[in-house]
Amino acid sequence: MTVPDPAYRGRYAPSPTGDLHLGNARTALLAWLRARRQGGRLVLRVDDLDGPRTVEAAVHGNLEELAWLGLDWDEGPDVGGPHGPYRQSQRGPRYAAALAELERQGLVFACYLSRRELHDVASAPHGATPVYGAAQRRANERVAAARRGAGKVPSLRVRAGPGVLAFDDLVAGPQRFEVGVDLGDVIVRRADGLWAYQLATVVDDAAMGITEVVRGDDLLPSTGSQLLLYRALGLDAPAFLHLPLLLDESGERLAKRRGSLTLRGLRAAGVAPERVVGLLAHGLGLLPEPRPVAPRELVADFDLAAVRPGPVRLTAADLDELRAGGR
Ligand code: GLU
Repeated sequence: MTVPDPAYRGRYAPSPTGDLHLGNARTALLAWLRARRQGGRLVLRVDDLDGPRTVEAAVHGNLEELAWLGLDWDEGPDVGGPHGPYRQSQRGPRYAAALAELERQGLVFACYLSRRELHDVASAPHGATPVYGAAQRRANERVAAARRGAGKVPSLRVRAGPGVLAFDDLVAGPQRFEVGVDLGDVIVRRADGLWAYQLATVVDDAAMGITEVVRGDDLLPSTGSQLLLYRALGLDAPAFLHLPLLLDESGERLAKRRGSLTLRGLRAAGVAPERVVGLLAHGLGLLPEPRPVAPRELVADFDLAAVRPGPVRLTAADLDELRAGGR
């Protein structure tokens, strides 16, 4: 049973690097349902930290795609609100202030290793981000003085320290991280001068008074790193709800590049948004069958207990059915 909580503040925070896909839509739908069911507020924040990867058309495009689905929000770049600006690209001074606080505590160090070197030190599998630990620190210490002297710009990291960190996820259940092994030192500013996702997310979620974060469970390890930053900055952490990934028929994660599965692509093909919502709600365990439905029709009966951990696979038949609905 869901107890009303007008103090609830949730958020959905798309990165405008392209069109939203079904996986994004599902996360947004659940974040919206959590806020609406409890009578709280939903914040729409645009995570456009990564200037070079930001597609300007997607900043507003993503909002339109969500509105097309039938979702709305109480604060955001288009509707304003008391915690703006709602675009991360405009919040740099807040990240700088948090960095200054971490520096004041002596927690920040400069790392001069390249991405390639970090991988080599860790012998991490290709593509995986290695945990930054003792081996990386030693390798950095060997080269830092010379590279600093040569004027190389370092990335900045927060020392993670030892210990164990645990929290209860509302869907994924109890989580436990061994800080040194699972998380490592947390990057807060990148060598290219961009603020790191971890720092910006913590600063913004705290500043915007977010009480619960809904996002994909690919970000579970990031949550561990973010909890370290909440602790270091003396900020209250929100509750977390990590949704299992939505996989396509071949068992792969739904990616933005699969054009036909973007909301824009489905809309252009004439698919009704209620069909998309019905399919997603069914996958979430909220509907016994994928019948067309508007998000607001799901609010009254919405019960988080129906949402189970574990990946959800969209079958080819589901997707054919969805596309066929457009004709
Ligand atoms: N902008 C991030 C993404 O789209 C948000 C992650 C988060 O919810 O913290 O992956």
